[in-house]
This record gives sequence, C-alpha cells and structure tokens, in this order.
Amino acid sequence: MPDLVGSIDAGTTSVRFIVFDEFASIKAQHQLEFTQYYPHPGWQEQDAHEIMDAVNQCIEKAVEELEKGGEFTRSDIKAIGVTNQRETTAVWDKTTGKALTRAIAWPDARNTHTIRELAAKSEKGNDAVKEQTGLPLSTYFASGKVRWMLDNIPEVKKAEQEKNLLFGTIDSWIVYNLTDRAAHITDSSNASRTMFMDLKKQQWCPELCKFFDIDMDILPEIKSSAEVYGTVAQGALKGVAIAGIAGDQMAALVGNKCFSPGEAKNTYGTGAFLLYNTGEKVVSSDNGLLSTIAYKAGPNAPVHYALEGSIAVAGSAVKWVRDSLGLIKDASEIGELAGQVDDTGGVYFVTAFNGLFCPYWDDTAAGTIVGITAYTDKRHFCRATLEATCFQTKAILDAMAKDSGVALKALQVDGGLTNSDQAMQIQADILGINVERPEMRESTALGSALLAGSAIGLFGWDINKPETLAKVNTAGKQTFAPKIDDKRRAELMHGWERAVEKAKGWNE
Ligand code: ADP
Repeated sequence: MPDLVGSIDAGTTSVRFIVFDEFASIKAQHQLEFTQYYPHPGWQEQDAHEIMDAVNQCIEKAVEELEKGGEFTRSDIKAIGVTNQRETTAVWDKTTGKALTRAIAWPDARNTHTIRELAAKSEKGNDAVKEQTGLPLSTYFASGKVRWMLDNIPEVKKAEQEKNLLFGTIDSWIVYNLTDRAAHITDSSNASRTMFMDLKKQQWCPELCKFFDIDMDILPEIKSSAEVYGTVAQGALKGVAIAGIAGDQMAALVGNKCFSPGEAKNTYGTGAFLLYNTGEKVVSSDNGLLSTIAYKAGPNAPVHYALEGSIAVAGSAVKWVRDSLGLIKDASEIGELAGQVDDTGGVYFVTAFNGLFCPYWDDTAAGTIVGITAYTDKRHFCRATLEATCFQTKAILDAMAKDSGVALKALQVDGGLTNSDQAMQIQADILGINVERPEMRESTALGSALLAGSAIGLFGWDINKPETLAKVNTAGKQTFAPKIDDKRRAELMHGWERAVEKAKGWNE
C-alpha cells in the first residue's frame, strides 16, 4: 500500500482535512464551514470548540471516504500537518481545557483604542516593536487581542491571576486538543505573528511581554515547522504523528514551492496574502510590509524569512456581495458578471470593512464606493469588488519591489477567489505580469503536508533540499497574461489611489 500524508487546513471560514499522495494528488477530503459571530461593527468571533468539532468531523469523514475507495486504509496515513488562520486568538483554562471566551478572529478591530494607547507609550509610535517583531502595531496581531481579553473579560483576568490561563493561536489549540492536552506548542511561523516573539532569535521576548503586560507563562512553546510534536490521541487517526505546522500563508508559500529568495505567491481566501521569500535574512520594510518567518523546516534547519503584504478583505467581499447584498447567489457568479463589462465605468470600491492593511495601514479607513453614476449596474459593481483586491495586490508588489530592489516576473496564486478566471485576468492586467495558477489549488494544505512528510522523511521529501520535491504538484499550470497597456494600467491605479484617499480617516 502506498503511503499518504494528511493536512488539517483550519481556515477563517472553514476547516478541511485533505489526504495527499506523494505527487500531491488528493485521495480524500472533507470540508466544513463554521460559524462567524459579528456581535458589534468591527468585531468577529469564533467558537474554538466548534472549530475543534469541525476538525474531528473532517478527519472522520475524509478517512471514511478514503477507505470507501478500497485502495487505501487509514493506516496508510503516516503523518499529518496542521495549517491555520493566523493571529486568531484563543484562551483557555489549563485545568479544564475549556475556552474561556470566544476566539477573537484576525480581522477583528475592536482593540483600536488599546493599540493607540500602546503606540502612544513609545517615541516610535506604531513602529514601537517593529525592530524586534518585523510588525507595526495594529489591531491585527494576537498581542492586542489577548490584551483586550485581559482588560475586558473578568474570567480571563482571573485565570491569569490564578496561573490557570493558556493562550494559543488556532494551530496551538488544535494540537493541544488532538494530543489530548499533551502538547501546548506553536511553530515559529505562527509565533512570528503574535508580536511576542523576537524575529531573529525565534524566542518569546520578555521585553515584548512586558510592553503588552502579558504573563509569559501563558504562551505555548515555540517549535520548528517540521518535527514530531506528538501523536493523535483518539479517533480515526489515533497514533498518527502530528509533524508539521505553519500559518496558512506560510504553508501556501511552501505549497507553491517558493523556496528560493525572490519567489512569491498570493493566496486569495477570506483576505489575500502576498508572501515574498527573502531567504535566510530578515528584510525590513520601509514601505508598509511585514517581515515574518516563512518556515523553519526542522529543529536544526535554517530559518527562512519573508516579506508579506496582507489585504484584510478579498474573498470576504465576494461573500458580502452574496450574503449581505444578495446581488449573486453563488461566489462563482461574481466573475461571470464582472466579465460581461470591459471596465467598471469609473467605479472604485475600497473594501476597507475593518480599515486597510498593507501598504496603507489605516485602521480609520472605511468601506467606500466612488464614481457611481446612473450608468452603473451590478456588473460594474461586481467588477469593482474583484478589482479592489487586485489593486491592493499591485500596491503591495510595488512596495516589495522598492524594499527588495527586484521586480517580480510572475506571481503564483491560489485560494478560493482564484477559481474565477475573470478575477485572475483582471489581476494580470492590473499587475502587468503573468499570473500562474496551478491545477491543484489546495497549496495551503499541501504546504503543511509537505512539512509533515519532510519531518518524518516520507517519500524522501526534505524541504531543505527542494529537489526532493520535484515530482510534487506538477500537473497543468494555467497562465494569465496581461492584455492592457501600461498607460491604461497607470490610469486605473491612479483612480484606485484617489479612491483610497477618500476612504482613509473616515472613522477618525
Ligand atoms: P479561507 O481559507 O480564508 O476560508 P478560501 O481559500 O476557502 O478561504 O476562499 C474562500 C473565499 O473565496 C470566499 O470568501 C469566497 O467568497 C471566495 N470564492 C470562492 N469561489 C469563488 C469564485 N468562483 N469567484 C470569486 N470568489 C470565490
């Protein structure tokens, strides 16, 4: 029986469990959506236990599907990896293992006030901790979310005082539960997004914990992205090694095999995240990008860093057009409608639902639509919705070119929104470079499977020797080439930047 490797991909809106063979061909999978709670404008919460239930159910169902085929059994799965929505913050009780409150999801901007107070404490303002963490102070990262919980939820404060509090991002929560509470760990890629970690040392930093006034004992142990952390305690995969962890965007970089400095990918899911491999050195950004850990594939392996541009709202704008406006019934309709017109007729939609991330970093920006006339119909609006993500991607790539001194030649893409051919054509037009989309687009899940396989030497894989992965996911890549000229591209981008200026500062 050929060996297999599994991946738990715990995204922002859904959980998947996917089983791959050595060529990254999918042998079984199951996916479940879970509830998003929006109790106030700008807030977004999730039930950590519901996420765990979804993980367990996805494993059970996918294994059932795998065995139904008759070719494989569960014992062929030699290791599993975990990849997760990053920054989403969970806290739980050390004694009972129960969550103390709902997890605060990464787009949640409730802690604007806390972040402003912290910035005011330092002469460097928003760059107060940038040197150690590679990150600007923002509502986005886990530190401000934990601080908010400690300040506002008495049960969390009490647990901290009684030394009964544990904190973790979703990877940490999943591994803690899968191992039946044997392992309270995270990997360095996820840790690099908490704002508690020293980017160069890959260790929790006492000064940062002091800055955020957090007890270091609540933090999980930092491990590499590829090693055996423990085994699954129960269920269909009982006894299987959990051997890889990476934040979803870092996992997608690995899954797209962007192992060399200068290679980059953009994943268009709920948000969109462009990561550019900078190799073994930290490149600090002067243009609003994040410096982050890409992966460290083994306890003694070198760390690879990346520059990252994050866009808060991408596929979630499509979801909003579908669920809140009811303009479409299925996400796939947005591309069809957008493709029926050549342009938006001058409409720009700045999808700043919770402020703007890279490269603008304005948490006071508000969602803004400009340029509407009586000529505008829903096709223009749908096109403007897709263009919003494409323009932000262009702004990020321009910033990366400035920071790294190198312009990208082609962009690798994956994620739900890349299912739309129209969106990808718009993206190529706006960027002026080729956009390359693989046939098997579960790059995030594949990345964590590659890390887990590599950790146990499955299929001869070794992330630190990319040539060992030459046979992985090579089937049919589709290339979208730009079809508009530079003059038109510049006009469109100029219009977008003007629209962004309108959106900025609205919630001052
Ligand atoms: P995540 O991992 O963040 O949950 P996914 O990669 O699963 O996200 O992508 C889901 C997003 O992709 C949804 O927000 C959905 O609106 C969008 N999406 C899915 N299919 C399409 C499509 N054909 N056209 C445009 N957007 C799509």
